[in-house]
Amino acid sequence: PKRIFSGMQPTGQLHLGNYLGALKNWVALQDEGSFECFYCVVDMHAITMPHDPKALPGAVRAAAAAYIAAGVDPAKSALFAQSAVPEHAELAWIFNCVARMGWAERMTQFKDKAGKDKERASVGLFTYPVLMAADILVYKATHVPVGDDQKQHLELCRDVAARFNRDYGDGEMIFPITEPVIQGPGARIMSLRDGLSKMSKSDVSDNSRINLHDDADTIAKKIRKAKTDPEPLPDTMEALNARPEATNLVGIYAALTGRTKADVLAEFAGQGFGVFKPALADVAVEYLAPISDEFRRLVADQAEIDRILTDGAERARTVAAPVLKQAKQVIGYWS
Ligand code: ATP
Ligand code: MG
Repeated sequence: PKRIFSGMQPTGQLHLGNYLGALKNWVALQDEGSFECFYCVVDMHAITMPHDPKALPGAVRAAAAAYIAAGVDPAKSALFAQSAVPEHAELAWIFNCVARMGWAERMTQFKDKAGKDKERASVGLFTYPVLMAADILVYKATHVPVGDDQKQHLELCRDVAARFNRDYGDGEMIFPITEPVIQGPGARIMSLRDGLSKMSKSDVSDNSRINLHDDADTIAKKIRKAKTDPEPLPDTMEALNARPEATNLVGIYAALTGRTKADVLAEFAGQGFGVFKPALADVAVEYLAPISDEFRRLVADQAEIDRILTDGAERARTVAAPVLKQAKQVIGYWS
C-alpha cells in the first residue's frame, strides 16, 4: 500500500512556513484518496532542546488542533502524538545501531540547533534524524511530505532503510526507500526579519513569522514591518533571485494564490513595497482567517482533541506493532 507519514514538533505556534511547506500538502495527499495517512505531533523530538514540561501537553493539543483546522480529517488520517506510540522509540534504538556516526555528523540541522557549544547539546538532538527514520519506517511509509529543510534527514532515512535491508533483510526489502514530497513555491519560506534564514517556530522573534492563528491586524503589521530593500520589484526572475527578502515575499504571495513566482512578478514588476506589502497582507489575511477561526474553536475543546489523539494512536499502533515485531526478529532479539 502507498503510505504517508509526516509530523511537526510542538515547539511553538505553527506558522505559515509549516503550512505552505508541509501541512497544505498533507491535506492534498489525504484528500487525493490513494494513500493511508499518518500525521503525528512529534513530542519526543520536542524534548531534544530545552523545553517546558508543563507546557508540552498543551502544545501537543494545539498542534493537533492546527492540523485539523488546516484540513487534516481524523476520520481519514490517523492523527496522534509520537509519545503515545512506543514502537517509534523501540525501532529508533535498532536504527541507532544501523546508522553510522559519519551520517549523523553531516546533518546541518544538528549544527544549526547545537550552535557553537556542541558539547552541551543533548545526545537526543544528535540522533534526532535516526528517530525520524524510525517514525517513518515503523509505518513502512512510502512518501513523506515535508519542507525543503528536511531533505537531508530524508536522505538519512533512505540510507538507514537500505543499510538495514542489506545487512539483515536476507534478500528481502524489509523497509521501503521512502520518497520525500517537497513541492511548490512554499517549500522553503524564509523569516520576515532575515531572508537568509528559514521561518521557524523556535525563532525568538515573533515578528519573524506569521502564525496560523494570528489575527488580521497582526498579520498586516508583521508584513508591513518585514525586512525589505527600498527598490521596486524587478521585472526578471534573475533580478528577483538576487534579493532574498523580495524573493521570499513574492514566494509567499505565489504559494497563497496557487500561482508561480514569475506570474506574480509579472503583475507587480515596477511596484514598490508600499503597494506589494498591503496586497500580500490582504491575500494572507483572507487565506488564514478560516483556518484561525477553526483553530480557536477546536483548541477550546480539550476533551475532543484528546479523544481524537487517543483514537489515532490506537490506529497507528495496529500498523506499527507488526513492523516493529518483524524488525526485532530479523535483528536477533531474544524477545
Ligand atoms: P523548530 O524551529 O522547532 O525546528 P520548525 O518551524 O522548523 O520548528 P518543524 O516542526 O521542525 O518546524 O517542522 C515541521 C514541518 O514544517 C517540516 O516538514 C518542515 O520541513 C516544515 N517547515 C518548517 N519550517 C519551514 C519553512 N520555513 N518553510 C517551509 N517548510 C517548513
Ligand atoms: Mg525545524
